[in-house]
Amino acid sequence: MEITASTYRPKLALLEGAKLYKELHERVRAAQLFKRSYMFYALHALFVLMAIAISWYFLAVTANTILFSIIAMLLAMCLSQLGGYMHDAAHMMILKTKIMNDVAGTICASLALMNYNAWKIKHNAHHGHPNQEGHDPDIDIPLFSFTGTRYASKTGLARVLRRYQAYFYFPLTFLLAYSFQFKNNIEYFIREVKTGFRLSILGEMSLHLGGFFLWYVLPFLVFDLLRRCSLSRSFQRRSAFTLRASLLQITKGCQCSIEMPGCRF
Ligand SMILES: [Zn+2]
Repeated sequence: MEITASTYRPKLALLEGAKLYKELHERVRAAQLFKRSYMFYALHALFVLMAIAISWYFLAVTANTILFSIIAMLLAMCLSQLGGYMHDAAHMMILKTKIMNDVAGTICASLALMNYNAWKIKHNAHHGHPNQEGHDPDIDIPLFSFTGTRYASKTGLARVLRRYQAYFYFPLTFLLAYSFQFKNNIEYFIREVKTGFRLSILGEMSLHLGGFFLWYVLPFLVFDLLRRCSLSRSFQRRSAFTLRASLLQITKGCQCSIEMPGCRF
């Protein structure tokens, strides 16, 4: 059965739904979309993790503001890949078993300061009711209206901004990262603790605190330390990067040279 605008109905009978699902499943299988590629994920993850490490290194050693900003953007692009892995793990696309995918997803989510289970609940709700008002949490974004009903119901600042939401899309979606990292997770923790305390929730909270330390505390400590030249030089000497010479070329704006005694970033 083809679903078109004229045949689409939000509610299907159970048997009808099962039949449609079977057909869809067969088509997806025939297109080999269920076929995992371990090599793809291994090489992709290797590239992304290397890019993250290199970005961190460059961020730590450069004092050139423009270069710093460009590298920060590249780092952000690499980190968004962690979200992609988390998504694929939740759909059991990376590894064979659920538990292995959940472990991979939890690691990726924690590195990006997200909670895998909280996100998975939200994402399953999205796939269960894609783009359905009141059911799909992915379209429930305070300052945006994805439907006419929401557009009409906006009040306050959202009402003022709604006409210009296309222009605000990118700057405002930047704030979504904070919503994912804090609001969703805190709501999830409160909900889970209320329904009965489990040891696993304590583990998830610890992972979240670890992620918070990694992204919101450690950078200030590390960059502060690295800016003290003695530590920076010893860090750089120990570094295995052979890009040192080209780095110095790139960071021409930087007053500092690795060999230059008494340098300050
Ligand atoms: Zn999905």
